[in-house]
Amino acid sequence: MQEHRNFYINGQWVAPLDGKDHHVIDPSTEEPTAVISLGGQADADAAVAAAKAALPGWMATDPSERIALVEKLLEIYSAKAGEMATATSAEMGAPIDMANTQQVPAGSWHLKNFTKAAKDFQFDRPLGDHAPNDRIIYEAVGVAALITPWNWPQNQITLKVGAAAIAGCTMVLKPSEESPVNAMIFAQAMDEAGFPPGVFNLVNGDGAGVGTALSGHKDVDMVSFTGSSRAGTLISKNAADTLKRVHLELGGKGANVIFEDADEKAVKRGVLHMMNNTGQSCNAPSRMLVQRGKYDAAVEEAVAVAAKVSVGPANEEGRHIGPVVNEAQWNKIQGLIEKGISEGARLVAGGPGRPEGFNKGFYVRPTIFADVTNDMTIAREEIFGPVLSIMPFDTEEEATEIANDTVYGLTNYVQTQDPARLNRMARNLRSGMVEMNGTSRAAGSPFGGMKQSGNGREGGLWGIEDFLEVKAVSGWAAE
Ligand code: NAD
Repeated sequence: MQEHRNFYINGQWVAPLDGKDHHVIDPSTEEPTAVISLGGQADADAAVAAAKAALPGWMATDPSERIALVEKLLEIYSAKAGEMATATSAEMGAPIDMANTQQVPAGSWHLKNFTKAAKDFQFDRPLGDHAPNDRIIYEAVGVAALITPWNWPQNQITLKVGAAAIAGCTMVLKPSEESPVNAMIFAQAMDEAGFPPGVFNLVNGDGAGVGTALSGHKDVDMVSFTGSSRAGTLISKNAADTLKRVHLELGGKGANVIFEDADEKAVKRGVLHMMNNTGQSCNAPSRMLVQRGKYDAAVEEAVAVAAKVSVGPANEEGRHIGPVVNEAQWNKIQGLIEKGISEGARLVAGGPGRPEGFNKGFYVRPTIFADVTNDMTIAREEIFGPVLSIMPFDTEEEATEIANDTVYGLTNYVQTQDPARLNRMARNLRSGMVEMNGTSRAAGSPFGGMKQSGNGREGGLWGIEDFLEVKAVSGWAAE
């Protein structure tokens, strides 16, 4: 078992002041894979103090210097990609090939997109031709606490650290206690890239400890959080006393609206997207809405696709899906599958219990329910497991109404060959993102949600702007 008890504060790996041991469990085996420390208030204080001390120097650097350091980070990140993928796979259960081809590369993609967006961004510019003595200056929000989840760990860490660094913020990262080791390798990359001491700090801990210490800290100017809506609410309340800025990327319950004229791969694509990362993606298309004339054939096809999704240990090569992250998630998913059955949805694939051949490990059977109605628990709650709900609809208006009838609003998906309908749906769906016919969002596109899916945008230029204040100056002197 690996030992990773120290924290990265002020450019050094230091022993915790107020730490207690925590075992990181490999969800494929249920055995500990590493021991870390969960810090306390004193550790959060030390990291925030380092970030606060580093802020004036860091925010005064020219943006080009910060961009160059992020470019250097990208080089080192790429050199450590294999090591990070191995750690990610062991601690949160992503199969090793998937960790190598999706989890870790997501981070390089974001870092690259940030440097590209920042090069074209004017951090300091005139208001406009009508007001030559008015100046708009974008400057760092200040000390940022970055709190990240375990499901796409490198994706979320780079989305926050890359943007905060370019904006000129100093930061304290608290990665998920479920997936801390890949974050510590990332911290090593920050160190090797040469960020000045105090600009980036990492403290491990849980939500009740370091998470709460950071969200309520008087010297933290902003919290950028990705995780559950439950924690998002607690963080917002705790941050209210100090009126800090709070950016939230929370859960989702995406609709995937498949019209009768959808392309022939639409159903297969939807099922596989749902199962990817064992269903543990906030933007998963978890409600498949199929137009009546195609409904029976779609259910049949979905069952056939699910039957081909194999489940296996994270350290095995291949295209299988791994276990879910931990026992609590496994129990929650099992409870929701039972609920789907008891509320009358038609179970057509998978179901309760572990897949055949497993008596250990947090494995879940790829599960599909048909004839789901939008008031059922499985259509309303984010399951965060490989469980798809399929429901029929008749008209475009009805599909839009069902898709929007949720507290969430992260990503919706539309499948049709009718261009006018595509664009109408894009306008009518209440979500931060709409993806059409399997087209992924391009480099630099903003990621984030509406309603209870959150309030910030990450990635590209919008991601950087989230860490910036806008300062308006009048009477600017010509130099
Ligand atoms: P979680 O909310 O339990 O934990 C996320 C992080 O928040 C962890 O670091 C945890 O220690 C910390 N935390 C928990 N309670 C806290 C508190 N009271 N104060 C401060 N910090 C606290 O979520 P999770 O189980 O790790 O992740 C899964 C959730 O994240 C899902 O709901 C998923 O939809 C969501 N998610 C959203 C996005 C997005 O961008 N919208 C992306 C990925 C995951």
